[in-house]
Amino acid sequence: MDDCIIIDDLVVFANHGVFKEEKVMGQRFVISMKLCYDLYPAASSDDINKALNYAEICSFVTEFTRSNRCCLIEAAAADIADALLKKYSILTKAEITLKKPWAPIGLPLDRVAVHITRSRRRAYIGIGSNMGDKKAYLDFAVKKLSEDESCIVRKVAAYITTKPVGDVEQDDFLNSCIELDTLYSPHELLGKLHEIENAAGRTREIHWGPRTLDLDILLYGCETIHDEYLTIPHPQMTKRRFVLEPLAEIAPFAYDPVSGEYAVTLFERIKQNDMS
Ligand code: ADP
Ligand code: MG
Repeated sequence: MDDCIIIDDLVVFANHGVFKEEKVMGQRFVISMKLCYDLYPAASSDDINKALNYAEICSFVTEFTRSNRCCLIEAAAADIADALLKKYSILTKAEITLKKPWAPIGLPLDRVAVHITRSRRRAYIGIGSNMGDKKAYLDFAVKKLSEDESCIVRKVAAYITTKPVGDVEQDDFLNSCIELDTLYSPHELLGKLHEIENAAGRTREIHWGPRTLDLDILLYGCETIHDEYLTIPHPQMTKRRFVLEPLAEIAPFAYDPVSGEYAVTLFERIKQNDMS
């Protein structure tokens, strides 16, 4: 989506900087913003209530930049983008250019600037529980993610009861899937999911053994990641009916960049195999 609102050269007097004089005396910063969201509702209705109020945005950014003190303009710019995306859920992307016209380097430089882009990314989280009050654990995960200001829970699939896989003798699972728009990077999101699992009393005694709450990142945009902490798409995703069924329910056209197939196709295939 290319629609955006552009605000150029908002001047704010603030105290970002590495040097003591910068922190104490402050200086002028000049901020430009490109804020992406769907302008169609405002454009087609000519209704001010459907538009972002740029006067309000300028006041918010001015106030935020004054009170948020960073050493680096990189951090200050990233914080502005984050704050805007958290405050305005309608925004899909924020590009911020932060200029420092009087950088104190002892040379006649015109200005130094950083430009950063932050966007909400769509992720799918597989959720499961097979201990205690399973429904309460799944509800807990949904609630925790809904309360997180870096996440917007868009959809939650119906909870389904499934048989455990693997050789461990254990209770049936309750599974579901969450569609999430998030400001977290994949690794930050994994950290957040581990926090929620821990808060639900998750312990890791037996691999693929019983658990109060299991939260797996199935997909994160169209990214492929493989390192010591994280594999995305989730490596078992295409083999597990209990993952594909809820995923296909809420996002039939969620795209798996590894197999090159949609969730609905993967689910239909596994269903056929189960029946044969
Ligand atoms: P499983 O979900 O396979 O039953 P765990 O929940 O115990 O196993 O996860 C083990 C580790 O897998 C986690 O600590 C995490 O670092 C890693 N991992 C790798 N890729 C993913 C992913 N896509 N989602 C969640 N965890 C992942
Ligand atoms: Mg897991």
